[in-house]
Amino acid sequence: MSRTYAGGPLERLEQWDDFLQSRYRPERKKEEFRVFDETSPAVVKDFYRQNHARQTVEFVRSKRAEYLPLRKGEMGIWEAMEKLNTLVDDSDPDTDLSQIDHNLQTAEAIRAAGHPRWMILTGFIHDLGKILCLYGEEQWAVVGDTFPVGCAWSDKIVFHEYFAANPDRHVPTYQTRCGIYEEGCGLDRVMLSWGHDEYLYHVTKPYLPEPAQYIIRYHSFYPAHREGAYGHLMTEHDREMFEWVRRFNPFDLYSKSDSRPRLEDLKPYYDELISEFFPPRIRW
Ligand code: FE
Ligand code: FE
Repeated sequence: MSRTYAGGPLERLEQWDDFLQSRYRPERKKEEFRVFDETSPAVVKDFYRQNHARQTVEFVRSKRAEYLPLRKGEMGIWEAMEKLNTLVDDSDPDTDLSQIDHNLQTAEAIRAAGHPRWMILTGFIHDLGKILCLYGEEQWAVVGDTFPVGCAWSDKIVFHEYFAANPDRHVPTYQTRCGIYEEGCGLDRVMLSWGHDEYLYHVTKPYLPEPAQYIIRYHSFYPAHREGAYGHLMTEHDREMFEWVRRFNPFDLYSKSDSRPRLEDLKPYYDELISEFFPPRIRW
C-alpha cells in the first residue's frame, strides 16, 4: 500500500483534477452538468465533505496568519518543484504523471498556443503551492475548488449540500449575500477558502505581471471563473483580469496526455524562463 502524503480521503491529489476534468468535459451536455453527485467517486465526495465542513472564516484567518508572513525559508523554483515531485513519488509510485509532468504539460500547451512567456511560466509554476502538503496540511486545505468564506455559499459550488456541516452556518453575518464584505469591494478583499492558489500567489506576486497573479490566485475558483458566481464582490478590473483566468483554465484541465514531456530536453528553456522573472531564491 502506498503512503499518502497528505491526510485525507484522496489516494492522490490528482484525483481532484481528474474529477474536475470529468465535470468540465468539453463535450459534456448542459443537462449532465449537475449530476456529478451520484456519479462521482466516493473519495471525492469524502474529500469535499471535509473541505466544506472545515473551511471556515476562523480556519482561513489562522492559515493566512501562519503562512502569509512567508516564514518557511528560502528556496528556488526548481528546488520547490523537485520537493513537490519527491513527495508525489513517495506517496504514489504507480501514478502515471508526476506534478512536474502536469506543470510541464500545462506550460508546453500554453507555449504551443503561442501565448506570451509570462503565461508559459505561469503554467509551469501554477501548482507549486501544493508544497503545503509538505508542511503537513491535509488535502482539504490544499486542493479542491475554492470559494469565499464569510458570506453566503453560492449554490454553484460543487457539493453545496455539505456546507450543512460548516459551523459558519450559525453565524448570521456570514450568511448574507455579501457577508463581511461590501458589494463590489474587489476580490483582493475577499478571503477564499485556504489552499495552494492563495499561498503561491503570495509567494510569487513580487515577480510576476498582474494577469499571472490572477491566474495563480484564482485558478481553482471554479464557482466564479466557470460558473459566473460572486460577480457582486468583483470590481470591473477583477472581471477584466478573469478573462486571463478563463483563458488559462483549458490548459490546466485538458493538457494531460500520456506522453510524458521530456524534462531533459526542456530544462534549458525553463531555466532561462525562470531566471528571466525570478531571482535564484525566493521566500516561501
Ligand atoms: Fe491547481
Ligand atoms: Fe493544475
